Amino acid sequence: MTRFFTLIPAAGSGSRMDSELPKQYLFLNDKPMIYHSINTLYHNKLITSIFVVLAPDDCNWIKHDWSEFSDKLIVLNCGGATRAESVLNGLAIAKQRNLIDNNDWILVHDAARPCLTVVQLDKLISELTHDEVGGLLAVPVSDTLKRSNIDNLVMRTEPRENLWQAQTPQMFRYELLTKALQNAKKLHITDDASAIEALGLHPKLILSDTYNFKVTYPKDLALAELIIHQRNNP
Ligand code: C5P
Repeated sequence: MTRFFTLIPAAGSGSRMDSELPKQYLFLNDKPMIYHSINTLYHNKLITSIFVVLAPDDCNWIKHDWSEFSDKLIVLNCGGATRAESVLNGLAIAKQRNLIDNNDWILVHDAARPCLTVVQLDKLISELTHDEVGGLLAVPVSDTLKRSNIDNLVMRTEPRENLWQAQTPQMFRYELLTKALQNAKKLHITDDASAIEALGLHPKLILSDTYNFKVTYPKDLALAELIIHQRNNP
């Protein structure tokens, strides 16, 4: 039987956020940002468990009440120096504890993408369940892209045809994802799909929308707050 798990790497410090508090704990509509990511994943009936990978010295998680998710939530304090390391460490511990099998699907989702919708998640799962490789949510690039030199002078305009912005969740089977991330240890990758690509495989892009953006800079918080507020108060 096909099983689905999610893993949320949440061991980053959010250095571009200009905040002492790691960004996944910044408040969005009265809840820590990561709450919203967990909430959408939790309500998908196909998802068996949600692994949350925290930094080993995380002291913020226990300050909040997660009991409403307790039947699916598994917290692992094994975050690494990079996102890829955090994902790999989380997968390794889940496997050691016999919680996942080689063929299980793993949906890796950034803690910092709190605006993921139920519809986007359903679409990702339904379009990839029978796929050989797996894939990710993404949006076609809409702006004109400029390649600059170090002095911010335009060197050329990049054709945007067939260019996409990668989002999460990114969905791959445990065995392939682990193999890919181990293989990519020296490659400085910033998402899971890049590791799969480095094996010569071609993840499938599932059309998403820009609402599922990653909260990176302080101004992103206000936008995420607005989106979630409107969703909760239609
Ligand atoms: O820093 P960035 O926004 O790219 O991080 C994306 C996701 O990866 C966030 O959810 C962050 O907490 C996580 N991360 C991690 N371990 C790290 C760095 C980032 O789990 N060492």
